[in-house]
Amino acid sequence: MTKIFNFCAGPAMLPEAVMHKAQNEFCNWQGMGISVMEVSHRSPEYIDMAQQAEQDLRDLMEIPDNYKVLFCHGGGRGQFAAVPLNLLDDKLDADYLLTGQWSKSAVVEAKKHARIAETNIMTETADGKISVQACADWQVNAGAAYVHYCPNETIEGIELFDIPETGVVPLVADMSSTILSRPVDVSKFGLIYAGAQKNIGPSGLSIVIVRDDLIGKARQAIPSILDYKVQADADSMYNTPPTYAWYLAGLVFKWLKEQGGLAEVEKKNIAKAALLYNFIDNSSFYANYVDKSVRSRMNIPFTLENDSLNETFLKESKAAGLLTLKGHKLVGGMRASIYNAMPIEGVQALVDFMSAFEKKYA
Ligand code: PMP
Repeated sequence: MTKIFNFCAGPAMLPEAVMHKAQNEFCNWQGMGISVMEVSHRSPEYIDMAQQAEQDLRDLMEIPDNYKVLFCHGGGRGQFAAVPLNLLDDKLDADYLLTGQWSKSAVVEAKKHARIAETNIMTETADGKISVQACADWQVNAGAAYVHYCPNETIEGIELFDIPETGVVPLVADMSSTILSRPVDVSKFGLIYAGAQKNIGPSGLSIVIVRDDLIGKARQAIPSILDYKVQADADSMYNTPPTYAWYLAGLVFKWLKEQGGLAEVEKKNIAKAALLYNFIDNSSFYANYVDKSVRSRMNIPFTLENDSLNETFLKESKAAGLLTLKGHKLVGGMRASIYNAMPIEGVQALVDFMSAFEKKYA
């Protein structure tokens, strides 16, 4: 059978070794004779596993002790609401930097609760590519409760490698599609959140990494389930957490450690992205419209010069075992999401296919 590679932006490919492990112990977890899905989240076995998962994440990201790690429900969008409800404190204003569709969606939700100053920091280069203003040029409102930005825009394929300097104003990052793809200095952030279904594990879970001093400021009307203090005090078990997703995330964290940690993972991600971008840049049949300085390593959108070939490309790539290459409907074209679990062989298979397709139709 043709080897299948899944380029979906999320839910995304999971490491094969993790799925085999989960499969092997699916019906009999830790010799208990039942599945982890059937085990109480209050049982000592589950709590041990949950704590170990948190510790492994802390080790991987070198999360300082003055940060809590929360395992929440509600995905990325859940945090679009939770962030303003928790962090506004007695302030009214928050700053949002706009770099694409996901940062715009975060604003829509935040506007229900705060006065939002939106700063569009997207620019266009002389040769018509999408770019983003240099970090040092971003104006931060010193009176804002926090500054929010999205270091990896999954739809446009824009990734920001510099971290904005926001002084005393806490910096909040939606890392849904870049978390764990490279080391980051967590101490530069007030809060990091991420939906799980890309580099962490299955959907249904979001991870929040929040500095202690930002916990306990929530507005009274906040639903308890979104309140970081409630969740932190209950070790993320205020209600039944997404137990299977948490377990699987724990397996992914172990797998990442076995890969040598985030510095090693980053090297592989750089090599994978370079392979695909170099191929696209050397072809006049395909194009990527993002400036090199802000190209995402995780989500690589590309267009076909002749877009009447789009459907054929999707049909033939699928037949070749290369799944879910259709770009997001807002931008069209194609998109290859190559998160941590995508091996370089998958990217090579895509490049080989694209090259053969070009020869056939150019
Ligand atoms: N932020 C980013 C950067 C995303 O890519 C996504 C989903 N693709 C979301 C937020 C929304 O996540 P969810 O579907 O888990 O709410």
